Amino acid sequence: MLVEKNLPLQPFNTFHIVAKAHALVRIHDEADVQGLLNEPVWATFPKFVLGGGSNVVLTGDVKPLVLKVEIKGRKLVGETAKAFIVEVGAGENWHEFVAWTLAEGYFGLENMALIPGTVGASPVQNIGAYGVELQDRFDSLDAIDLHTGKLFTLNAAQCAFGYRDSVFKHSSVANEYEGQKPIGLKDRALILRVRFALPKLWKPVLGYADIDKKMAEHACLKPTAQQLFDWVCEIRRAKLPNPDVMGNVGSFFKNPTVTPEQCEDIIARDPKVVHYVLADGSVKLAAGWLIDACGWRGKSVGQAGVFEKQALVLVNRGSVSGPDAATGGEVMTLAKAIQTSVYERFGILLETEPVVV
Ligand SMILES: Cc1cc2nc3c(=O)[nH]c(=O)nc-3n(C[C@H](O)[C@H](O)[C@H](O)COP(=O)(O)OP(=O)(O)OC[C@H]3O[C@@H](n4cnc5c(N)ncnc54)[C@H](O)[C@@H]3O)c2cc1C
Repeated sequence: MLVEKNLPLQPFNTFHIVAKAHALVRIHDEADVQGLLNEPVWATFPKFVLGGGSNVVLTGDVKPLVLKVEIKGRKLVGETAKAFIVEVGAGENWHEFVAWTLAEGYFGLENMALIPGTVGASPVQNIGAYGVELQDRFDSLDAIDLHTGKLFTLNAAQCAFGYRDSVFKHSSVANEYEGQKPIGLKDRALILRVRFALPKLWKPVLGYADIDKKMAEHACLKPTAQQLFDWVCEIRRAKLPNPDVMGNVGSFFKNPTVTPEQCEDIIARDPKVVHYVLADGSVKLAAGWLIDACGWRGKSVGQAGVFEKQALVLVNRGSVSGPDAATGGEVMTLAKAIQTSVYERFGILLETEPVVV
């Protein structure tokens, strides 16, 4: 087993923060993990699982052993009366996988086109975009326990999906802040393969202003899955910074959910607050609007900045491949300053979306 020492991680995280992995192993299948767990030096050594690095903020060199997931493969493994079941290796690139499903005639993932990262990370934060979340198309996954080396399979209920949340984001140690959440699998599970159930009777998921605009532009009332895929790619390219050119991790904060009473209080502070009433009566606020209202758009701390076109995205204004990149410290200082000012103005504590390492 090849253990790479002092490996630069700047190319392996989309913020392009300069940091090193003290040790890194590339994982191609479960045997690689089992082999590692059989080596006394690594068996109990702390480990960090890395996919495409598009949802992590590195605040220094990574001391745990980095397991970089490069498990490949995608195939149809079955079908039910309602769905095609497609299985994908955790190291496959998410966007390339979505493009492949369409080419093969399996629809349902097109609204999530162009989300960076790997398939293996997609259940971790239950990725979502334009009205579709991973949990809407999820069947099951196989993972390996990094403590025991045992393989296990989880269905959707066992993954405990929530808004940008799952069992993989919660500690395996009981924690008073976890409330009623099930005991989690954070730092414990390496996802090997994910299976998706893609509907045989496909219907486009519409209802987003940007997509409505495309339908009007193309005078099209019933887009195909391929059209939706193309439009979502165009919309995202126009709105979000390309991480290969300007480092970022997409949305830096989750959109907060509040009670109707809290929302009334915020409307009293600023009647223009962007909000959506959810099915259960709670209210979702647009985190980007709250940040913008506090005057953060375009501001910087060192080389870390708030993206000019969308205040929800923090960016690296420095190099993507050289030493003058934003540091993890600058990114987190900026994030904390934003959290403080939003809290002081609106009484809302924004929760960060990426994993801080
Ligand atoms: C420009 C841009 C736009 C984005 N847009 C969206 C969006 O629209 N919607 C959205 O939901 N997200 C979005 N993201 C965030 C990000 O793309 C997703 O969270 C993605 O799923 C992360 O994948 P990754 O492979 O890069 O994970 P990483 O960043 O490598 O890891 C993220 C977390 O998952 C864990 N992990 C990774 N792989 C595995 C595995 N195989 N087994 C167990 N744990 C694992 C890591 O330990 C870490 O905790 C965006 C990011 C960028 C840069």
